[in-house]
Amino acid sequence: MTNCLFCKIIAGTIPSTKVYEDDLVLAFRDIAPQAPTHILVIPKTHIPSVDGITAENSAVVAHIFEIIPAIAKAEGLEKGYRVVSNCGEHAGQTVRHLHFHILGGRELNLEMA
Ligand code: 5GP
Ligand code: ZN
Repeated sequence: MTNCLFCKIIAGTIPSTKVYEDDLVLAFRDIAPQAPTHILVIPKTHIPSVDGITAENSAVVAHIFEIIPAIAKAEGLEKGYRVVSNCGEHAGQTVRHLHFHILGGRELNLEMA
């Protein structure tokens, strides 16, 4: 997707602070962190949101959830962290490329909305 911000980050045409990368996924620091640790984990294939996850592409999502604990450990989030994916307008999704926020490094408030 040539006009997708996160596809451009994957391609390297927009710089990012990478924390993890392999053939399938990229993790990088959020440009506007909401917590001391705020990392985005994305598939290298363009999936627009959670709504776009299917039996055909869900292996990369499973892989993301294998990588998340390793990132959390490397970031020293032993006291816990939150994983969030905003899907669509009502959730406030601003970038239409599937991403999972990892938030931690302080006690997070408990409101879900
Ligand atoms: P959403 O609101 O779609 O759930 O999350 C999008 C996230 O992407 C936001 O937390 C926002 O700060 C982050 N973001 C937007 N543009 C950039 C960028 O150019 N670089 C990085 N590293 N993060 C970005
Ligand atoms: Zn994309």
